[in-house]
Amino acid sequence: MAKASGASTKALRALALKHAEEEIALNKASLATAKNTYEKNKNTLASLINSGASDELIEKQREVTTEARKASAEERKDLEEAVKNKADIVRKNAVEVRQELTDNNTKIKDANKALNDAIKQQNEEAAKTEKDRIKTLNDSILSLREEIRVSKLNEEQKEKDEVEKKYTKLIEDAKKANINVSDLEKEKQNALKLIREKYDKVFELTQAEKDAKGKELPCTIQGTMMRIDLPTPLKSKQSFLMSIDWFNYINNTKIHGGRGGFEHFEIDGSDIFELAQWFPRLCVYDDVEGWQNKEYIGRGEFALEFGDYKVSITVPEDHIVAATGELQNANAVLTADMQSKLITAKSSKTPVLIFSQDEVEKKLLDFTALTIKSKKMKTWIFQGKNVRDFAWASSRKFIWDALGVNSGGKIVMCMSYYPKEGNPLWEKYSTHAVAQTILTYSKYTIQYPYPIAISVNGPIGGMEYPMICFNGPRPEADGTYSERTKTGLISVVIHEVGHNFFPMIINSDERQWTWMDEGLNTFVQFLTEKEWDKDYPSSRGEPRNIVQYMSSDKTTLCPIMTNSESILQFGNNAYGKPATALNILRETVMGRELFDFAFKTYCQRWAFRHPRPADFFRTMEDASAVDLDWFW
Ligand SMILES: [Zn+2]
Repeated sequence: MAKASGASTKALRALALKHAEEEIALNKASLATAKNTYEKNKNTLASLINSGASDELIEKQREVTTEARKASAEERKDLEEAVKNKADIVRKNAVEVRQELTDNNTKIKDANKALNDAIKQQNEEAAKTEKDRIKTLNDSILSLREEIRVSKLNEEQKEKDEVEKKYTKLIEDAKKANINVSDLEKEKQNALKLIREKYDKVFELTQAEKDAKGKELPCTIQGTMMRIDLPTPLKSKQSFLMSIDWFNYINNTKIHGGRGGFEHFEIDGSDIFELAQWFPRLCVYDDVEGWQNKEYIGRGEFALEFGDYKVSITVPEDHIVAATGELQNANAVLTADMQSKLITAKSSKTPVLIFSQDEVEKKLLDFTALTIKSKKMKTWIFQGKNVRDFAWASSRKFIWDALGVNSGGKIVMCMSYYPKEGNPLWEKYSTHAVAQTILTYSKYTIQYPYPIAISVNGPIGGMEYPMICFNGPRPEADGTYSERTKTGLISVVIHEVGHNFFPMIINSDERQWTWMDEGLNTFVQFLTEKEWDKDYPSSRGEPRNIVQYMSSDKTTLCPIMTNSESILQFGNNAYGKPATALNILRETVMGRELFDFAFKTYCQRWAFRHPRPADFFRTMEDASAVDLDWFW
C-alpha cells in the first residue's frame, strides 16, 4: 500500500511540474507573437511618420502600437508568473520528497530495531536453553561418574577384604605350625598392591575431541598418549583450535601414591588437594627428535611445551587455592584484609601471614561444628604465561604466608601454603628457602622470569611445577622435629623451587635425560644450600658423599647418559653423580670464574628452549675456551 501511494504522489508531482512547464512554453510562444506584433506596428508607425502620412493615420497607428506594447507586457507578466509557478511547484515537490524520505528512514529504523530486538530475544532464549541442556547433561555425567567411582571403590574394598581374610587365616595357621610368615606377609602386600593398581586409574580421555566448530576429530589412544588427526597438516606458525573432553579422578595419595591427589585429615574432616598431571598436555615437537611421544610409565618425567594458561578453579568457598600463575580475581576470592597483607608482604623483610594459623583453626572449628556442610563454591582464576605446565593446590586447612623478593629489580612473591600440622617448621623455613632459591639460582643461571614462586605442604614428598611445588616434610605430632627433618624441608624446597630453572625453563627432555634436570638442579641446589649456611649438611654435591657409591659393585652402576627408565640407583646416578662432577669441574678443573660464566651462558642460551646433552657440553667448552672432551 505504501508503495502504491508513494508512486501516485510521485506521478502527481511530475504531472504538476509538466503542466507548469507547458504553461511556460505557451506563455513564451504568446509573448513571442505579442512582441512580434508590437515590433511590426512600431515599424509601421515609423514609416508612416517618415512618409509624411496624415496626422489622423499616424495617431491611429500610434494607438494600435501602444495596445500591442501593452499586450506584449501582459504576456511577459504571464510568463513571469508561469516561471514563478514552476519554481513553487519544484520547491513544494522537494519538500514533499524530503518529508517522504524522513518518514521512510524512521520507518526503516523502527523496523530494524524491532528486528534486532526479536533476534536478541531469540538468541538469549537459545543460549539459556543450551546452557540448561549442558547443565543437565553435565549433572547426569557427574552423577554417573560418581556412581562408577563409588561402585569401583566398593569393588576394590571387596577384593581387598577377601585378600585380608584369606591371608589372615593362612598366617594364623602358619604361626600355629611355627612356620615363618614373612613370605606370606610379602605375598599379601603384593596381592593388595595389585588390586590397588587395578583400580588406580586416575585419568581418562574420552573419544570426543572436537574442533572449534564442534566437529568431532578422529583420535587414537595408546597408553598415556593420544593422537588427534587434524583435518589438514598444521604448518609452522599456524594454529588450530580444538576442545578435549576429559575428566580426572583424584586419588588418595597416602593410599595410592602418585604425583598428585589428596590427603585426608580425620581430625577435622578436611583434605589437602594437590593437582598435577590433571589435564591432557601437548607433547614436544622439535627440530631434533620430531615428536617426543614416549608413553609415561612412572619414573622418567615429562617433556612439555610452553604455553599461556588461564584457568578457573571452582572449590568450596572456605578453601584457599595456590596455582601456577597470578590470581586474576583477588576481589572476588580474598578479603580486603588479605589483599592489604599481600601488598605489605611485597616490601616486607620477613614473611607476612596472609591467612594465619589462628584464622585456619577458627575456620576448622566452625566447619567441624556444622552438621550440614555448606555447598557454596568460589571460583579462583589464575593466569600463567610462558609456562610448560599448570598445577594447583586447594584446602580449607591452608595457612598462607608471603614475602616479596627483589630479583633484578622485579618483585617475586615467594609464598608458602601449609596446614597447622606443618608448623612450627613451615612458618620458620619454607618461604625463606623459596626466597633463597630465587636469589641464588638467579645469580648462577638466569633471572627468575615469573612473578611468583610457591611451596605447598601436602601429601606429595617433593614434586616440581612452574611457579609451584609440593613438599612433604612435617614435624612430629607434638611439633618437635629433628635437625634432619629441618634440613630435609629446606633442601626439598630449594630443590623443587630450583626445578623452575631446570627443566621448567631450561626445558630439557626429562623422558630421556634425567641428569639434565635433576643433576644440574642438584648442583645449583648445593650452591644454594652453601649460601643459606656455609656449613649446611648437603647430602649431594660434596665429593666425599659419592665415594661409597662410586666404589660399589660395578654391576649396580650405569652411565649418567642412560635413559631415565633404565637408570640403576636413580638418586646417586642422576642427582648425586652429576652434581658432584659439576662441583669438581667448577672447583678444581675450570675454576669458578670460567665455570660460572660458561654455566650461565648455557642457561641463557637455552632458556625457554629444548637443550640436548651436546648443547650443554658444547656451551661449557665454547664459553670457557677449555677443552673438556676428556671430561665428558
Ligand atoms: Zn628433582
